[in-house]
Amino acid sequence: MIKVDDYIPIIGQSVIDDLRLIGAQLNGKVVQHINSTSVGGGVAEILNRMVPLLKELGVDTRWDVIKGGEQFFNVTKKFHNVLHGRKDEVTQSDFDAFLDTTRMNLEGINIYGDIVYVHDPQPIGLVNKRSGNKWLWRCHIDVSHPHTKVWEFLMDFIVQYDAAVFSAPSFSRKLPIRQFLIPPSIDPLSDKNKELPQEVIDQVLRKYQIVADKPIVTQISRFDRLKDPVGVIEAYQQVKKYIDCQLILAGGTATDDPEGAQVLAEAQEKAHRDKDIHILLLPQNDIEVNALQRASTVIVQKSLREGFGLTVSEALWKAKPVVASNVGGIPLQIKHKYSGLLCHSVQGAAFALKQLLNSPEYAQRLGGNGREHVRNNFLITRHLRDYMLLFLSLYHPEDLVYL
Ligand code: UDP
Repeated sequence: MIKVDDYIPIIGQSVIDDLRLIGAQLNGKVVQHINSTSVGGGVAEILNRMVPLLKELGVDTRWDVIKGGEQFFNVTKKFHNVLHGRKDEVTQSDFDAFLDTTRMNLEGINIYGDIVYVHDPQPIGLVNKRSGNKWLWRCHIDVSHPHTKVWEFLMDFIVQYDAAVFSAPSFSRKLPIRQFLIPPSIDPLSDKNKELPQEVIDQVLRKYQIVADKPIVTQISRFDRLKDPVGVIEAYQQVKKYIDCQLILAGGTATDDPEGAQVLAEAQEKAHRDKDIHILLLPQNDIEVNALQRASTVIVQKSLREGFGLTVSEALWKAKPVVASNVGGIPLQIKHKYSGLLCHSVQGAAFALKQLLNSPEYAQRLGGNGREHVRNNFLITRHLRDYMLLFLSLYHPEDLVYL
């Protein structure tokens, strides 16, 4: 079990001392996180790491997951897509299905937190159960250009919260409640990010029958259209005309994502019979993700829209050169030509990939800068501090708290 002190060699003693001081101020408060899945995707990833550490710091932190059927998750997936700006028709029956499941969860869930921390739109309606406690809504989505009807529907709930939390200034909207800006983070000591012996990396490559005899370009992502796996294959195909390399597209499915199987099939069709394209349906196995990232020459994240994009920080922490789209939280992580390369299209991604594959020294420099950028900004220790200061600020609304 990881302890808070285990982070001292990575981040320094004084940061950990500060965390303990702040944690002590929250003694006696119960923080209840609520989201819609315990596995798959960035929210579950972060909560899994933060909950035990917050507990050790003295903040009594628990985590509950709402229930929902296929229809509900189809609707919330549609909400997610249109909030990100994708075109789709949202009907009254979608809103009704959302409200039906919300009612069911309102009856089933026990709300016991002094602070109830609700993640994303799926459980947003639970706020109807608020009594004397504090409620926070954590929005992981870029809602700067949302679907009007869906946003108005959500606003009826949002205004009932004490505050909303966004990952970046550009994701947020004007709201009548307090707003906080807190980017997510990665855990350098998790199975996903810790150092791995070369034998483990080799074993994982063998398991998936990948021979590291030519450069490996990798995208790790759920099979989701917004992650553009087909676009990644197109970029690879352009690069392949000039540089003999291989592509790994690896992803599992999240229990709240019904579209995965279809997107996976589209990628398989696009890959056709190219033996250098490895499309892997991963089990939930963090060591495997870690090993595939470490085995890669270059990491890609060619998303069309993105929340924060944790996979980018994961790759940079491993000092990998990254080519990623200039969307969502990615430009917070990649300063173009300093800690990676940003792109805007298939052609742009292909051009950047060729550049990095042809210039290993340049690629290494970008990766090294990326690792330091993540150390300074996107590790879990910074995130713990921001969350605890946020919780404290709820009890001191008149004081300014700098996050
Ligand atoms: N991930 C994983 N297995 C997979 C695909 C993704 O463990 O097969 C992880 C990935 O390493 C990252 C998270 O899921 O930690 C995805 O977070 P991100 O912010 O990149 O995207 P999201 O899925 O939340 O849109």
